[in-house]
Amino acid sequence: MHVKKGDTVVVITGKDKGKKGKVLTAYPKQNRVIVEGVNMLTKHKKPTQQMQQGGIIHQEGPINASNVMLFCGKDKQGVRVGYKVLDSGDKVRVCKKCGEVID
Ligand SMILES: [Zn+2]
Repeated sequence: MHVKKGDTVVVITGKDKGKKGKVLTAYPKQNRVIVEGVNMLTKHKKPTQQMQQGGIIHQEGPINASNVMLFCGKDKQGVRVGYKVLDSGDKVRVCKKCGEVID
């Protein structure tokens, strides 16, 4: 995927369009990510032994990774990600706009 855990991303489509947040969890197999503060879901919890009151909890739901772009701190916007192989053989991600190495 073009984004991974810990990345700062911008949502480019959907009800949270324009929101910026950190990737909390990435699910490469499903091509989905959970982004801090994005796609907040309200869940009604039934009372359990641990939580006798039950109640409402707010939690981020996963969104499709293609709905987010990596946020480049230099460009101050969501950017496309390219790949570059270093002399060491490591493959790194680069900002397609300014060329900044991301990893
Ligand atoms: Zn950039």
